[in-house]
Amino acid sequence: MDLEVITVKTSRKTELVDITDEVIKRLPNEDGICVLYVPHTTAGIIINEGADPAVKRDILMVYDRLAPEGLDYEHLEGNSPGHVKSSLTGPSLVLIVEKGRPLLGTWQRIFFAEYDGPRTRKVYLKFVKG
Ligand code: ZN
Repeated sequence: MDLEVITVKTSRKTELVDITDEVIKRLPNEDGICVLYVPHTTAGIIINEGADPAVKRDILMVYDRLAPEGLDYEHLEGNSPGHVKSSLTGPSLVLIVEKGRPLLGTWQRIFFAEYDGPRTRKVYLKFVKG
């Protein structure tokens, strides 16, 4: 399958945006592997609980503690916390797909992680049949 690009418009400095439905609607009704890749240095992608929005807030709170604003960062652009959080999160996910559906646990959702928004972002999606 050709490369698909999901556009994500974020609205806050840091935010987890649920893109699960955007991913599912781009998958063919087949078995295979789906790779999601975020081509940004102050963003990332994670899978975690989507039922209770408090989980998203807790994750972002801990990331803020790990990479707070106001440290003696050397990078002059001013967004070092975003770069550090992006490194902690990672830029990609691999999903197992069966009949067009990713094999996620009951409470799992796919989140685009914004760490230096608001911005318009991209997630690359590549499906490999098999
Ligand atoms: Zn920077």
